[in-house]
Amino acid sequence: MLEKTFPLSNKMRISVDHEKLDNFSQNHVRFYLKYSSFVFRALKKPSFQKFLQWMLEKEKIEEQTVRAVHVKVLPFRRKNGKGVAGNCNTARGRIRIYPKTIKFCQIFTRKFGRNTLLVYAGSRARAALIHELLHLKYVEDEKTVRELAKDYFCIFTQKQYTQSVHSLFIYTMIFDAKISGKKAPPSGSNDPSTRLKLNETCLRASGVFK
Ligand SMILES: [Zn+2]
Repeated sequence: MLEKTFPLSNKMRISVDHEKLDNFSQNHVRFYLKYSSFVFRALKKPSFQKFLQWMLEKEKIEEQTVRAVHVKVLPFRRKNGKGVAGNCNTARGRIRIYPKTIKFCQIFTRKFGRNTLLVYAGSRARAALIHELLHLKYVEDEKTVRELAKDYFCIFTQKQYTQSVHSLFIYTMIFDAKISGKKAPPSGSNDPSTRLKLNETCLRASGVFK
């Protein structure tokens, strides 16, 4: 069977500002190249692309308004020193996703291990992309974007955990619940350990938006 291709997936690429490379050591550049290719693969996963397509349809955001999604190799900081997860040029329809700094990753890995870092980096990039895509519609309404982005991120995460067990049934249930304005069921599963995991993920996700 031919694999379905997603239009958004074809607009994604890894991008590096060559003039900035000199500011980083070879080791650091190697680290950021690995990071960006990991994030690139995470964002292009069919399960996530399918989810984004659904989200764009639900929000009535025309797929053509997204011109390009750049996964940036090097991190970016605002003038106030705060790291940026992503940004969106709404006029051009161009989204950029940025990595965490190597320093952050080293501290994180020491505390929680490499696997948790990978989960974190993938989740952070997915959350950032969801957030920036929503900006195409709610251009300057940061509050709405943040709220919706959290909701959507949790929907995607829940879907991942329940996919193997109940697949489509749970999927429909979650979305019906959302449409009617009620809260989504905790996990669509009665397994308390699954529920705990989900809540943690959503909590962690909300940290991403700070
Ligand atoms: Zn924003």
